[in-house]
Amino acid sequence: MTRRVLLLGGTAEARALAARLVADGVDVTSSLAGRVAHPRLPEGKVRIGGFGGVDGLREALAEYDVVVDATHPFSATMSDNAFRACTAAAVPLLRLQRPGWADRATGSWHWVGSHQQAADAASRLGSRPLLTVGRQQLAAFVAALGELAVLARVVDEPDIAIPPAWQLIRDRGPYALPGELELLREHRADVLVTKDSGGEYTWPKMQAAGQLGIPVVIVRRPAVPAGVPVVAEVDDALAWLRGNPPCPEKV
Ligand code: NAP
Repeated sequence: MTRRVLLLGGTAEARALAARLVADGVDVTSSLAGRVAHPRLPEGKVRIGGFGGVDGLREALAEYDVVVDATHPFSATMSDNAFRACTAAAVPLLRLQRPGWADRATGSWHWVGSHQQAADAASRLGSRPLLTVGRQQLAAFVAALGELAVLARVVDEPDIAIPPAWQLIRDRGPYALPGELELLREHRADVLVTKDSGGEYTWPKMQAAGQLGIPVVIVRRPAVPAGVPVVAEVDDALAWLRGNPPCPEKV
Protein backbone atom coordinates (compact mmCIF):
# COMPACT_ATOMS: atom_id res chain seq x y z
CA MET A 1 0.00 0.00 0.00
CA THR A 2 1.16 3.53 -0.78
CA ARG A 3 2.77 5.03 2.28
CA ARG A 4 2.19 8.76 2.43
CA VAL A 5 -1.30 9.76 1.41
CA LEU A 6 -2.54 13.32 1.24
CA LEU A 7 -6.31 13.17 1.56
CA LEU A 8 -8.09 16.36 0.58
CA GLY A 9 -11.17 16.17 2.75
CA GLY A 10 -14.05 18.04 4.30
CA THR A 11 -16.59 15.33 3.46
CA ALA A 12 -18.08 12.24 5.12
CA GLU A 13 -16.45 9.95 2.57
CA ALA A 14 -13.05 11.51 3.22
CA ARG A 15 -13.48 10.80 6.95
CA ALA A 16 -14.53 7.24 6.15
CA LEU A 17 -11.46 6.73 3.95
CA ALA A 18 -9.16 8.27 6.58
CA ALA A 19 -10.52 5.86 9.20
CA ARG A 20 -9.93 2.85 6.93
CA LEU A 21 -6.39 3.98 6.05
CA VAL A 22 -5.53 4.58 9.71
CA ALA A 23 -6.86 1.11 10.55
CA ASP A 24 -4.63 -0.31 7.79
CA GLY A 25 -1.58 1.48 9.26
CA VAL A 26 -1.23 3.81 6.28
CA ASP A 27 0.43 7.18 6.79
CA VAL A 28 -2.46 9.46 5.87
CA THR A 29 -2.79 13.18 6.38
CA SER A 30 -6.24 14.68 5.95
CA SER A 31 -6.37 18.26 4.75
CA LEU A 32 -9.25 20.57 5.66
CA ALA A 33 -9.83 24.05 4.28
CA GLY A 34 -10.66 25.51 7.69
CA ARG A 35 -13.93 27.07 6.53
CA VAL A 36 -16.27 25.83 9.24
CA ALA A 37 -15.83 26.86 12.85
CA HIS A 38 -16.05 23.36 14.33
CA PRO A 39 -15.19 20.80 11.65
CA ARG A 40 -15.78 17.10 12.16
CA LEU A 41 -12.22 15.86 12.45
CA PRO A 42 -11.11 12.67 10.71
CA GLU A 43 -8.98 10.01 12.36
CA GLY A 44 -5.24 10.27 11.86
CA LYS A 45 -3.11 13.30 11.09
CA VAL A 46 -4.90 16.47 10.09
CA ARG A 47 -3.66 19.72 8.59
CA ILE A 48 -5.96 22.74 8.32
CA GLY A 49 -5.90 25.67 5.90
CA GLY A 50 -5.25 26.33 2.21
CA PHE A 51 -1.94 25.46 0.59
CA GLY A 52 -1.58 28.77 -1.24
CA GLY A 53 -2.82 27.82 -4.69
CA VAL A 54 -1.28 25.39 -7.16
CA ASP A 55 2.31 26.37 -6.38
CA GLY A 56 1.84 25.98 -2.63
CA LEU A 57 0.24 22.59 -3.07
CA ARG A 58 2.95 21.50 -5.46
CA GLU A 59 5.56 22.34 -2.82
CA ALA A 60 3.62 20.48 -0.16
CA LEU A 61 3.53 17.38 -2.39
CA ALA A 62 7.20 16.75 -1.64
CA GLU A 63 5.90 15.14 1.59
CA TYR A 64 3.44 12.77 -0.11
CA ASP A 65 3.40 9.86 -2.53
CA VAL A 66 -0.19 10.07 -3.67
CA VAL A 67 -3.17 12.39 -3.39
CA VAL A 68 -6.83 11.50 -2.97
CA ASP A 69 -9.13 14.39 -3.70
CA ALA A 70 -12.21 13.61 -1.63
CA THR A 71 -13.41 17.19 -1.37
CA HIS A 72 -17.05 18.09 -1.92
CA PRO A 73 -18.32 17.63 -5.51
CA PHE A 74 -18.64 21.43 -5.78
CA SER A 75 -15.10 22.20 -4.57
CA ALA A 76 -13.97 22.81 -8.14
CA THR A 77 -11.09 25.16 -7.31
CA MET A 78 -9.44 22.69 -4.97
CA SER A 79 -9.97 19.83 -7.42
CA ASP A 80 -8.49 21.85 -10.25
CA ASN A 81 -5.52 22.89 -8.08
CA ALA A 82 -4.95 19.26 -7.11
CA PHE A 83 -4.99 18.23 -10.77
CA ARG A 84 -2.50 20.92 -11.78
CA ALA A 85 -0.15 20.42 -8.84
CA CYS A 86 -0.16 16.62 -9.12
CA THR A 87 0.43 16.80 -12.86
CA ALA A 88 3.36 19.19 -12.37
CA ALA A 89 4.86 17.08 -9.57
CA ALA A 90 4.08 13.70 -11.22
CA VAL A 91 2.17 12.56 -8.15
CA PRO A 92 -0.72 10.14 -8.74
CA LEU A 93 -4.15 11.65 -8.09
CA LEU A 94 -7.48 9.97 -7.47
CA ARG A 95 -10.87 11.67 -7.22
CA LEU A 96 -13.22 10.12 -4.68
CA GLN A 97 -16.63 11.59 -5.38
CA ARG A 98 -20.00 10.34 -4.19
CA PRO A 99 -22.60 9.73 -6.91
CA GLY A 100 -24.94 12.58 -7.71
CA TRP A 101 -28.72 12.49 -7.46
CA ALA A 102 -29.45 12.65 -11.19
CA ASP A 103 -31.15 9.25 -11.36
CA ARG A 104 -33.14 9.69 -8.13
CA ALA A 105 -35.61 12.41 -9.13
CA THR A 106 -38.55 12.44 -6.73
CA GLY A 107 -40.73 15.04 -8.41
CA SER A 108 -40.42 18.22 -10.42
CA TRP A 109 -36.67 18.93 -10.71
CA HIS A 110 -35.25 21.85 -12.68
CA TRP A 111 -31.57 21.39 -13.56
CA VAL A 112 -29.43 24.52 -13.97
CA GLY A 113 -25.78 25.13 -14.73
CA SER A 114 -24.92 27.74 -12.10
CA HIS A 115 -26.09 29.34 -8.88
CA GLN A 116 -27.02 32.45 -10.85
CA GLN A 117 -29.31 30.37 -13.04
CA ALA A 118 -30.68 28.69 -9.92
CA ALA A 119 -31.63 32.10 -8.53
CA ASP A 120 -33.46 33.04 -11.73
CA ALA A 121 -35.26 29.68 -11.88
CA ALA A 122 -36.29 29.88 -8.22
CA SER A 123 -37.72 33.38 -8.70
CA ARG A 124 -39.89 32.06 -11.53
CA LEU A 125 -41.04 28.98 -9.63
CA GLY A 126 -41.96 30.35 -6.22
CA SER A 127 -42.01 33.16 -3.69
CA ARG A 128 -40.96 31.33 -0.50
CA PRO A 129 -37.74 29.49 -1.38
CA LEU A 130 -35.74 27.26 0.91
CA LEU A 131 -32.09 27.81 -0.03
CA THR A 132 -29.70 24.98 0.84
CA VAL A 133 -26.70 25.90 -1.29
CA GLY A 134 -24.17 26.79 1.41
CA ARG A 135 -23.31 30.19 2.83
CA GLN A 136 -20.64 30.93 0.22
CA GLN A 137 -23.19 30.82 -2.59
CA LEU A 138 -25.84 33.05 -1.02
CA ALA A 139 -24.55 36.21 -2.72
CA ALA A 140 -25.63 34.81 -6.10
CA PHE A 141 -29.26 34.78 -4.90
CA VAL A 142 -29.58 38.26 -3.46
CA ALA A 143 -30.39 40.09 -6.71
CA ALA A 144 -33.14 37.71 -7.85
CA LEU A 145 -34.58 36.72 -4.46
CA GLY A 146 -33.72 39.70 -2.23
CA GLU A 147 -37.37 40.77 -1.79
CA LEU A 148 -38.75 37.27 -1.24
CA ALA A 149 -39.37 35.38 2.00
CA VAL A 150 -36.27 33.21 1.66
CA LEU A 151 -35.30 30.70 4.31
CA ALA A 152 -31.56 30.01 3.97
CA ARG A 153 -30.07 27.06 5.81
CA VAL A 154 -26.34 27.31 6.52
CA VAL A 155 -23.75 25.66 8.78
CA ASP A 156 -21.97 28.88 9.73
CA GLU A 157 -22.92 32.55 9.63
CA PRO A 158 -22.59 33.94 6.07
CA ASP A 159 -20.16 36.79 5.51
CA ILE A 160 -22.59 38.82 3.38
CA ALA A 161 -25.39 41.09 4.62
CA ILE A 162 -28.60 39.08 4.49
CA PRO A 163 -31.62 40.91 2.97
CA PRO A 164 -34.17 41.92 5.67
CA ALA A 165 -36.83 39.70 4.09
CA TRP A 166 -34.64 36.63 4.52
CA GLN A 167 -34.54 34.28 7.47
CA LEU A 168 -31.43 32.32 8.37
CA ILE A 169 -31.37 28.95 10.02
CA ARG A 170 -28.08 27.43 11.22
CA ASP A 171 -27.93 23.67 11.17
CA ARG A 172 -25.73 20.84 10.00
CA GLY A 173 -26.75 17.45 8.60
CA PRO A 174 -27.33 14.62 8.54
CA TYR A 175 -31.01 15.43 8.30
CA ALA A 176 -34.03 13.14 8.62
CA LEU A 177 -37.26 13.14 6.61
CA PRO A 178 -39.68 14.17 9.42
CA GLY A 179 -37.61 17.25 10.23
CA GLU A 180 -37.29 18.21 6.58
CA LEU A 181 -41.05 17.87 6.06
CA GLU A 182 -41.64 20.06 9.11
CA LEU A 183 -39.14 22.68 7.92
CA LEU A 184 -40.70 22.95 4.47
CA ARG A 185 -44.23 23.04 5.90
CA GLU A 186 -43.45 25.56 8.63
CA HIS A 187 -41.84 27.94 6.17
CA ARG A 188 -44.63 27.25 3.64
CA ALA A 189 -41.80 26.80 1.15
CA ASP A 190 -42.88 26.64 -2.47
CA VAL A 191 -39.49 25.95 -4.05
CA LEU A 192 -36.33 24.19 -2.82
CA VAL A 193 -32.91 25.19 -4.15
CA THR A 194 -29.99 22.79 -3.84
CA LYS A 195 -26.74 21.68 -5.41
CA ASP A 196 -26.39 18.13 -6.72
CA SER A 197 -24.35 17.25 -3.66
CA GLY A 198 -25.29 13.59 -3.71
CA GLY A 199 -25.00 11.28 -0.71
CA GLU A 200 -27.50 10.49 2.01
CA TYR A 201 -26.83 13.23 4.59
CA THR A 202 -28.95 15.82 2.80
CA TRP A 203 -31.14 13.56 0.65
CA PRO A 204 -34.22 13.72 2.94
CA LYS A 205 -34.95 17.31 1.83
CA MET A 206 -35.37 15.98 -1.71
CA GLN A 207 -37.76 13.29 -0.49
CA ALA A 208 -39.66 15.86 1.53
CA ALA A 209 -40.00 18.22 -1.44
CA GLY A 210 -41.21 15.29 -3.56
CA GLN A 211 -43.82 14.30 -0.98
CA LEU A 212 -45.10 17.87 -0.65
CA GLY A 213 -45.12 18.50 -4.42
CA ILE A 214 -42.58 21.31 -4.10
CA PRO A 215 -40.41 21.95 -7.20
CA VAL A 216 -36.66 21.61 -6.79
CA VAL A 217 -34.03 23.74 -8.53
CA ILE A 218 -30.83 21.72 -8.67
CA VAL A 219 -27.39 22.98 -9.71
CA ARG A 220 -25.35 20.60 -11.87
CA ARG A 221 -21.91 19.55 -10.63
CA PRO A 222 -18.73 20.99 -12.08
CA ALA A 223 -16.80 18.50 -14.23
CA VAL A 224 -13.87 16.54 -12.82
CA PRO A 225 -10.62 17.60 -14.56
CA ALA A 226 -10.09 15.43 -17.65
CA GLY A 227 -7.92 12.37 -17.18
CA VAL A 228 -8.30 12.10 -13.39
CA PRO A 229 -9.50 8.63 -12.34
CA VAL A 230 -12.75 8.82 -10.37
CA VAL A 231 -14.22 6.36 -7.88
CA ALA A 232 -17.47 6.67 -5.95
CA GLU A 233 -16.84 4.32 -3.05
CA VAL A 234 -14.29 4.22 -0.25
CA ASP A 235 -13.55 0.53 -1.03
CA ASP A 236 -12.67 1.46 -4.60
CA ALA A 237 -10.36 4.22 -3.37
CA LEU A 238 -8.59 1.68 -1.13
CA ALA A 239 -8.23 -0.71 -4.06
CA TRP A 240 -6.81 2.06 -6.23
CA LEU A 241 -4.34 3.05 -3.51
CA ARG A 242 -3.18 -0.56 -3.18
CA GLY A 243 -2.42 -0.55 -6.90
CA ASN A 244 -0.40 2.69 -6.77
CA PRO A 245 2.93 2.15 -5.01
CA PRO A 246 5.03 5.22 -4.19
CA CYS A 247 7.10 6.71 -7.01
CA PRO A 248 10.62 5.20 -6.62
CA GLU A 249 12.32 8.61 -6.52
CA LYS A 250 10.06 9.68 -3.61
CA VAL A 251 10.69 6.63 -1.36
P1 NAP B 1 -12.96 25.44 -3.21
O1 NAP B 1 -13.79 26.61 -3.56
O2 NAP B 1 -12.79 24.39 -4.24
O3 NAP B 1 -11.49 25.86 -2.74
C1 NAP B 1 -11.12 27.19 -2.46
C2 NAP B 1 -9.81 27.15 -1.74
O4 NAP B 1 -9.96 26.61 -0.43
C3 NAP B 1 -8.76 26.27 -2.39
O5 NAP B 1 -8.11 26.95 -3.45
C4 NAP B 1 -7.84 25.97 -1.23
O6 NAP B 1 -7.03 27.07 -0.89
C5 NAP B 1 -8.83 25.83 -0.08
N1 NAP B 1 -9.26 24.44 0.13
C6 NAP B 1 -10.40 23.84 -0.30
N2 NAP B 1 -10.47 22.58 0.14
C7 NAP B 1 -9.34 22.38 0.86
C8 NAP B 1 -8.85 21.27 1.58
N3 NAP B 1 -9.54 20.11 1.69
N4 NAP B 1 -7.65 21.39 2.20
C9 NAP B 1 -6.94 22.57 2.14
N5 NAP B 1 -7.37 23.66 1.47
C10 NAP B 1 -8.56 23.57 0.85
O7 NAP B 1 -13.53 24.78 -1.85
P2 NAP B 1 -14.96 24.95 -1.15
O8 NAP B 1 -16.01 24.43 -2.06
O9 NAP B 1 -15.06 26.30 -0.58
O10 NAP B 1 -14.84 23.88 0.02
C11 NAP B 1 -13.97 24.07 1.09
C12 NAP B 1 -13.94 22.78 1.89
O11 NAP B 1 -15.26 22.51 2.40
C13 NAP B 1 -13.53 21.57 1.07
O12 NAP B 1 -12.60 20.84 1.84
C14 NAP B 1 -14.81 20.78 0.88
O13 NAP B 1 -14.59 19.39 0.86
C15 NAP B 1 -15.66 21.21 2.06
N6 NAP B 1 -17.08 21.27 1.74
C16 NAP B 1 -17.52 22.04 0.72
C17 NAP B 1 -18.87 22.08 0.44
C18 NAP B 1 -19.40 22.89 -0.70
O14 NAP B 1 -20.61 22.91 -0.88
N7 NAP B 1 -18.57 23.54 -1.52
C19 NAP B 1 -19.77 21.33 1.22
C20 NAP B 1 -19.28 20.55 2.26
C21 NAP B 1 -17.93 20.53 2.52
P3 NAP B 1 -5.53 27.22 -1.46
O15 NAP B 1 -5.68 27.62 -2.90
O16 NAP B 1 -4.92 28.25 -0.58
O17 NAP B 1 -4.87 25.87 -1.32
